[in-house]
Amino acid sequence: MNTENFNNNNNSKQQIISSKEPSKEFLKALNHLKPKWNGKYSEGYRGATIIYREFRSLVRLGKKEGLSEDYVLDQLKERKQEPCLECGKEITVIYENGHTFEENQYCKACKNIRDRREYEEEQERTRREEEPIERYSNKILGYRADYDIPYEEYLEIEKERRESIDKQLEPIKEAIEYGRSSNNRTKKIKLPKGMTKTKWLKQQREKRKQAKYEDKQRRIDQHLRFHGSPNRLIIQRIDKIRCDCEAQEMRIGKFCATCQLLIKVDSYMLGLFREAYERRKSRSEDGVK
Ligand SMILES: [Zn+2]
Ligand SMILES: [Zn+2]
Repeated sequence: MNTENFNNNNNSKQQIISSKEPSKEFLKALNHLKPKWNGKYSEGYRGATIIYREFRSLVRLGKKEGLSEDYVLDQLKERKQEPCLECGKEITVIYENGHTFEENQYCKACKNIRDRREYEEEQERTRREEEPIERYSNKILGYRADYDIPYEEYLEIEKERRESIDKQLEPIKEAIEYGRSSNNRTKKIKLPKGMTKTKWLKQQREKRKQAKYEDKQRRIDQHLRFHGSPNRLIIQRIDKIRCDCEAQEMRIGKFCATCQLLIKVDSYMLGLFREAYERRKSRSEDGVK
């Protein structure tokens, strides 16, 4: 599991906190495994196998008590009390196999300040390096430049993005859970009321067929978006133009015949974009959309 995601993922954190209180038996097994788990790479292959077996039995024990595997993994991490690297306030730093990320070594307040500063510096950099054509095309399409997105809004966008990824991962997680409990294979399928098994199987087949069809359509659309737009066509075309420029001549601003044509193409293109940009700008200044 990606540690960074794991730490930032509010959903799984919620899950961990909402777990029930572990029993004494569980805690004993946990404390027995914990030091070995955190130094497991020094134990070699045989040692690692033993540790992993112990881990699986701890997970089984936890399951009986209603504790998830995520909870067990979280409990196995080492926690040390350390001063925040910025303000010195004592915080709990989580270590995995003796390692931690630098970002974990700051208190929440200092981390927020650092994150915001980093974001704003990055925005300032992209603002400075923006090419006119970027400004033009954003305006033509009615977009804001990325550097115009305030930090708070960016956090919201990121949160939504993470939630949508979590949602996409849900069925995968379920499938893994299902595969782990080996009894499930022989378990009888619970049929919906008033449905025969043949009918149910047919319905499942139809569902799979539909999913396959939708997946194919999605891929066709994606391919079209990536390869069919004039944007791509122009990139491909330019790539085919032969260039005969020599470094020595380039230094004094002399280019080959095809490149001289391309200089004209570039200025013509910029002109078109600038005109569209100006039109759009004056319209929005007049309050017309
Ligand atoms: Zn701090
Ligand atoms: Zn050239």
